[in-house]
Amino acid sequence: MAGIKRRQLAEEERGRRPARLGALADAGLDVFCWCNRCGHNAVVPTAQLMGQLGPAMAVPEIGAHMRCTGCGSRDIATRPHWPSPGQITRHM
Ligand SMILES: [Zn+2]
Repeated sequence: MAGIKRRQLAEEERGRRPARLGALADAGLDVFCWCNRCGHNAVVPTAQLMGQLGPAMAVPEIGAHMRCTGCGSRDIATRPHWPSPGQITRHM
């Protein structure tokens, strides 16, 4: 398990550099969290996450440290909460 996880992280690091909490704080962005199980979502202040995880934490990895307040799942997706005027574009 640990080996697989490490390889995934290495591939992500090689492909594109994920945003880190410190960079989000500089940009004034918070973190958008989405539960893959029940669809519960929330915006968590970056400052709060930095206090818990540190500024070097990659944003896509934050979900591994969170738990859904709705269903208790740990299958959480996280990304920068880009300010979006009006409707959010559907990606699926
Ligand atoms: Zn949930």
